[in-house]
Amino acid sequence: MATPSDPSTALERYTLGQRVYEWCGITVTSATGAWLCARLLAGGPLAVWWLPVALVVGLLGADLVSGIVHWGFDTWGDLDTPIVGQLAIRAFRQHHVDPSVLLGHDFVETNGHNFMLALPLTTGGLCVLPGGDGARFLALCFAAMAVCVALTSQIHKWAHTPRPPRLVALLQRARLILPPAHHEYHHRAPHRQRYCITVGWLDGLFTATGFFERVERVITRATGIDRHRHDEPVP
Ligand SMILES: [Zn+2]
Ligand SMILES: [Zn+2]
Repeated sequence: MATPSDPSTALERYTLGQRVYEWCGITVTSATGAWLCARLLAGGPLAVWWLPVALVVGLLGADLVSGIVHWGFDTWGDLDTPIVGQLAIRAFRQHHVDPSVLLGHDFVETNGHNFMLALPLTTGGLCVLPGGDGARFLALCFAAMAVCVALTSQIHKWAHTPRPPRLVALLQRARLILPPAHHEYHHRAPHRQRYCITVGWLDGLFTATGFFERVERVITRATGIDRHRHDEPVP
């Protein structure tokens, strides 16, 4: 039988408060992002090489954040953890139990939390403007990373979508967004590899260095808290 902390009960616990929070994230981050883009364009033409370089920086930054955040929510706490239990842990743990649940989430439930996570990036970009070329390039990197962070949950959802839009499938095959075959390894119990869900470029580095296992050992040694056990069956 399911207990209140089981991911299997998570669908019942999507609240009006979460919905409002997600709408706030989408609205405020979209507004500050549009303002950032307008100020960037108003400052004059951008150098041709800035955009591809900023995109790579944005993808790598978002991949790093997605890997660390996903590992954190998979590994520590439970659905009753204050604030993040319902806002984030719920979705990550639920998606291990039944990945197809993601496909039933609408745009707001899929993306609202990630839009909120991108807010410090859009405001950070606005803070470094106005300035010279260096400041404008930095602001463009903030903007690119904000877009990648905001779209990470959508990209992850597409990795579980049986027939994604043609352009999305093309980007997946080009490894410019998370490829389904790459992400499938994360869904093999005990769900302890390939945490990155923006593009997956950094998973190899994390696996080769045993980064997360090392950090878990350090945290457990320092606090006495053991990591969440994923290999326990959900009743
Ligand atoms: Zn996971
Ligand atoms: Zn997944």
